[in-house]
Amino acid sequence: MKKTGIAIHGGAGTILKSQMNPELEKNYLNGLKQALESGYEILKKDGNAIDAVEKAVIELENNPLFNAGKGSVFTNTGKHEMDASIMNGENLEAGSVCCVKQIKNPIELARKVMEKSDHVMLTGEGALDFAKLVNCKIENDNYFFDEFRHKQWLEIKDTDKFQLDHSKKTPPEKFGTVGAVARDNNGNLAAATSTGGMTNKKFGRIGDSPVIGVGNYANNSTCAISCTGSGEYFLRAVVAYDVSSMMEFGGMNLEDACNKVIHERLLKIGGDGGLIAIDHSGNIQLPFNTEGMYRAAMDNNGLYKIEIY
Ligand code: ASP
Repeated sequence: MKKTGIAIHGGAGTILKSQMNPELEKNYLNGLKQALESGYEILKKDGNAIDAVEKAVIELENNPLFNAGKGSVFTNTGKHEMDASIMNGENLEAGSVCCVKQIKNPIELARKVMEKSDHVMLTGEGALDFAKLVNCKIENDNYFFDEFRHKQWLEIKDTDKFQLDHSKKTPPEKFGTVGAVARDNNGNLAAATSTGGMTNKKFGRIGDSPVIGVGNYANNSTCAISCTGSGEYFLRAVVAYDVSSMMEFGGMNLEDACNKVIHERLLKIGGDGGLIAIDHSGNIQLPFNTEGMYRAAMDNNGLYKIEIY
């Protein structure tokens, strides 16, 4: 049987079970369930992997619990700057946006960059101009205001500190970045990743999420990957392409390649986080080296899981 499947994540972090309250846990699990099933619905109807990953990520971007779209963290100037990228494994086309403000769904804009521009990566004001041109939904700053995120920022706003949702010091509610990977009925793979980055970030800081081959990658002959974790380390380890390369040039299977990157190479340089991956045959891996990672996966072979720890 040909396998179709989807995996999603809502960020990796130090999620202590002892500190998680049942109400919050239920809300996170529901958010993941809704995104997972809405993406899978597309695959079930014989739709494309690229549509499935975009749909799942839009659901997560619209959910204020996750650090992407509506729930994006505050920058050093009290704004929201979002990064997102999408890649189609069938033709290696990709689109990416960095440091974008006011865009309701950065993943939608990344897809428009891929399909309606001659470019792969747009940033800041220019990306906003392009968004207006291709009719992406723009929201005012109030849309992105969230009491919890604001408090999180106020605590460190006058310092030089910046805070990843993965920071060991962060309380357990602070989790990040979202992503999805899928394989459709025709064997096409796709990956999408979206984030608000890190609290109190400045100087136009960009993490791994919008960088093709680092936080996001898809190639039909190997795998599709979406990452979450300490972006600076993921950038240095070129994580997503590293997994794909070990499969392509090293003859490794998905599981071994993922484990090598997440549990060996990243750890060696001090990087924490995880990734979600699906290979050309529809096998799914969800490795992480943190205490937990919001994650879920589903395929046409009976796999169905939604987990945090
Ligand atoms: N990787 C993201 C970044 O560094 C953060 C995250 O995964 O939560 O911007």
